[in-house]
Amino acid sequence: MIPTEIVLLRGIISWGGFVLFLVFELIRPYRQPSVSKKKRLITNVSLTVMNSFVLTMVFAAATVNAALYVSANHLGLLNMISLPLWPKTFVAVLFMDFMLYVLHLLNHEVPLFWRFHRVHHSDLNMDVSTASRFHIGELAISAVIKIGLIYFIGADLLSVFIFESLLVLTAQFQHSSLAVPSLFEEVFWVLFVPPSMHRIHHSVKIAERNTNYGTIFSVWDRMLGTLLRDVDQEKIVIGVGPYREQERLQLHRLLAMPFTRSIK
Ligand SMILES: [Zn+2]
Repeated sequence: MIPTEIVLLRGIISWGGFVLFLVFELIRPYRQPSVSKKKRLITNVSLTVMNSFVLTMVFAAATVNAALYVSANHLGLLNMISLPLWPKTFVAVLFMDFMLYVLHLLNHEVPLFWRFHRVHHSDLNMDVSTASRFHIGELAISAVIKIGLIYFIGADLLSVFIFESLLVLTAQFQHSSLAVPSLFEEVFWVLFVPPSMHRIHHSVKIAERNTNYGTIFSVWDRMLGTLLRDVDQEKIVIGVGPYREQERLQLHRLLAMPFTRSIK
């Protein structure tokens, strides 16, 4: 496939997942919105469309070409060893998800990174649109790091495509305000990140927020001691302490947020 088709297919998966989870959460919502869902959707979708445009224009071709270049020239760790295609793909996806865990932890612990990441956490409710509510600064840093990781691990285009597709769909699922059967959550939590696990991560309480950093796999939190389970889900208040008014969280304020006062 040529890069244009890959970029197009990725767009179809992102927007297809968005519509799918939006319909599901409207049919079976986990909780009723505490602020206007319509206004949040307008803000979050506007931000997503702007970000998609910049990312597609600036980083999409560079990412695809990095993966093609790495394969053609046998660069990176995975190309130094002989592994069949699927184990190789699995290791590449696992590695990139672990690095995303590390980056997410840094987004919370490094004050400069938190300035950008707090845009995502400032959403007052969680739903599928929260999954793509990011400041372009954070996404640009992630995109540059991802290209570096493709070279380091030697990820081919298939691995990058599977990783990105899983990433977007799991992020949409775990942010969605979808009432998921508790048995499903229990089983899913063993390896992956269900909505209840990620809801704790979006709590206004800093001790709860600085846990559960995983995106695709929950094993990194389990292994590295950042997993938190025993929280009363009904009592979780979503957001960042000082940002409590929806009227002060419009699109232009989100874009300016990293450059305003420092907030824990
Ligand atoms: Zn976070």
